[in-house]
Amino acid sequence: MPQHEFPTSRVRGAAALLATLLPISLAAQQVPLTIGGVTARAGERASGFIAVPAGSDSATQVPITIVRGATTGPILALIAGTHGAEVAPVIALQRLRAEVDPARLRGTLVLVHVANLPSFLNRTIYRGPWDAKNLNRVYPGRRDGTVSERIAHAITTEVIDRADYLVDMHSGDGNESLRPYTYWSKLGMDARVDSAAREMALAWGNDHIVVDTNRPKSREASLYTQNTAQVRGKPAITTETGFLGVADEGSVQRNVEGATRLMRHLGMLPALGALRPEERVTHPIWLERTAVLTSPGTGLWYPLVERGHTVQKGTVIGYVTDFFGTRQGDVRSPFTGTVLYVIGTPAMSRGEPVAMIGFVTEER
Ligand SMILES: [Zn+2]
Repeated sequence: MPQHEFPTSRVRGAAALLATLLPISLAAQQVPLTIGGVTARAGERASGFIAVPAGSDSATQVPITIVRGATTGPILALIAGTHGAEVAPVIALQRLRAEVDPARLRGTLVLVHVANLPSFLNRTIYRGPWDAKNLNRVYPGRRDGTVSERIAHAITTEVIDRADYLVDMHSGDGNESLRPYTYWSKLGMDARVDSAAREMALAWGNDHIVVDTNRPKSREASLYTQNTAQVRGKPAITTETGFLGVADEGSVQRNVEGATRLMRHLGMLPALGALRPEERVTHPIWLERTAVLTSPGTGLWYPLVERGHTVQKGTVIGYVTDFFGTRQGDVRSPFTGTVLYVIGTPAMSRGEPVAMIGFVTEER
């Protein structure tokens, strides 16, 4: 059941008074917005679900909130919980839902609280529990696919198709010890979209920004949430803030602050004012070259570096043993750079990621 919340009578009174003082064209009141089973009118916050009907596997749903501002402006979609153990953004969206006042919002905030409910409730990493697929590799999804594909289809058609801007909010998964960074996809299809996405990354606040030029350009096989928005002409970024499947206060707060800065950048929070230049990332560290290192064997992983460490070319990032403790192989950094994440838990299979290293380049 959707739950509706209405502005206080005092605010409603003020809005009514304003409406009598302003010509209708200047009041620019928004029409209601419906997404899934949720409808929010101007100046209203509403929560509920997008239904994902059963297919070859069970039905599920996607919990969302629409914060419909009193006046017109951009529609910003914030998506958390694409990977179910990435919880700092999930907690952050609950705080944003409580904090963003629809009466003082310009435009609309769409919060996807947990994109991947099967993964969240079953506490799986990387892949959903029912179809073993990675939700962030199956976009734009399929109406008649397995559950991950049906969730992707629902988010594409209900959320992405309606949004003007999108942030896919990730963190270190249950096994990933990660320092904050942002992906900016320089897709090369539309300079305006690429440029607007770059400005979003600088507004969000993570100073390490991975420049990804290899995302697919196909609408039919966009694979990633962010990329699905971007090939449809909507500027989008992917953020990574949080680690190891916990919602530590610092990471939650960074997510809340990033979203707040971005809303100010987009002019959605007039009461807080526009984002000042010094509040953006003033010294971004562009990571144009990155490497995801993989395990040489199956067994137990022993990391020797921590998230955020600087490593040299040849530094041993960690090693893998067999199940009895015999060292099977080392993993070394291919270049000097920053450890964006390193696996922080023991279970390891051959070929799985053990760390991601960013090669630091000069700003151009
Ligand atoms: Zn993720």
